[in-house]
Amino acid sequence: MNFELTSERQMLQDTLRRYLGDRYTTEVRNRIIESDAGMSAEIWRELADLGIVAALFTEDQGGFGGLGFDIVTVFEELGRAGVVEPFLDTAVLAGGLVADLGSEAQRAVLERVVGGEAQLAWAHGEPTSRYDLSHVETTARSLDGGIELNGRKSVVVNAEAAEALVVTARESGEPDDPEGLSLFLVPGGTPGLSLRGYPLMGGARAAEVTLETVHVPEAARLGPAGDVYSAIERRVAMANVALSAEALGAMETAKALTVAYLGTRKQFGRPIGTFQALQHRMADLMIELEQARSAVILAAGHMADERCSRERHVSAAKNLIGRVGRLVAEESIQMHGGIAMSQEYELAHIAKRIVMLDHRLGDTDHHMERFIAFSHV
Ligand SMILES: Cc1cc2nc3c(=O)[nH]c(=O)nc-3n(C[C@H](O)[C@H](O)[C@H](O)COP(=O)(O)OP(=O)(O)OC[C@H]3O[C@@H](n4cnc5c(N)ncnc54)[C@H](O)[C@@H]3O)c2cc1C
Repeated sequence: MNFELTSERQMLQDTLRRYLGDRYTTEVRNRIIESDAGMSAEIWRELADLGIVAALFTEDQGGFGGLGFDIVTVFEELGRAGVVEPFLDTAVLAGGLVADLGSEAQRAVLERVVGGEAQLAWAHGEPTSRYDLSHVETTARSLDGGIELNGRKSVVVNAEAAEALVVTARESGEPDDPEGLSLFLVPGGTPGLSLRGYPLMGGARAAEVTLETVHVPEAARLGPAGDVYSAIERRVAMANVALSAEALGAMETAKALTVAYLGTRKQFGRPIGTFQALQHRMADLMIELEQARSAVILAAGHMADERCSRERHVSAAKNLIGRVGRLVAEESIQMHGGIAMSQEYELAHIAKRIVMLDHRLGDTDHHMERFIAFSHV
């Protein structure tokens, strides 16, 4: 089997790696993390100009990629450089849902998303939903020819910067039913919509979102009424592959930094990398990393499968990435010693990012249970 990238994806990877290597240094990124916005509008625009957002959408959605391997190529590089800008939230999740389900009028925003002029966010998770995608208590009620939304959303990444939120709300059924869910495009600043923002551990910002008698027209509904669960699941699968690829890229950086450090730091008059105890640890780490890479490739290749096969492969990858990611982050810190705890040193952010990625859209344990469930269907 040929695991080489196509020439277009190779070009995308080279362009992105070169740009981020030159532009997205530890110092620049630390300044972005400490800024009020938690992201750089300038870097976002430059990356959009390079076609990075377009690579996350298919041609008929206004992009030039959008398949599993395009997404993996982009996110591995974003992970390698520890990028905190919310490409997952704007493009893969919220933008992806608009692309998959939106009417022609609703999809008009995608041109601006691809051009780097508009940002979006997906307001789905709630204070009691944890990783359960179908647990939605926010309600959508038809009223006077429009829709009234009421509820609370938790840890909505990029909510403050988004010009519109894609909000999941329940039109019928009980809080855990997959049936009865709808999506609505709600412009930022709509009366009744309030945000309480905060920075996240690994960079970027999120907000607690309250919807209190928020009124939107019928035309704000994305896709069929009460029947979007399978579309959500497909998008989240894609996002989990993106997160896995991002963690893989971050692990590559952790490995490279650690190898370099073992060759530089001296104890007892020689580099610590000459001590066999550390060589064994490094070898174990590299074997695990190669296995993680295989899992990401396998999951990306199963994105177009029927539900059960797709979800099984995605959960297998996210579970493995979570386990290997923690090992790589912890071992890299241990092999560095104290310097790895300093925010001025690249590894500190990269390690935080790896651990944080495990907690998005289902952690190691959640995906183990999901893998088992889909293996017995
Ligand atoms: C949060 C924090 C707080 C701290 N607070 C203090 C403090 O208050 N006071 C203070 O004095 N220090 C403090 N330290 C420093 C701490 O004591 C050192 O980080 C620690 O002793 C490790 O030393 P090092 O960072 O120089 O790592 P190194 O000695 O460079 O070790 C790096 C790696 O090489 C391995 N290694 C080294 N030698 C060998 C060998 N011969 N064979 C095999 N492996 C080897 C180590 O196990 C480690 O994995 C703190 C560190 C942290 C992270």
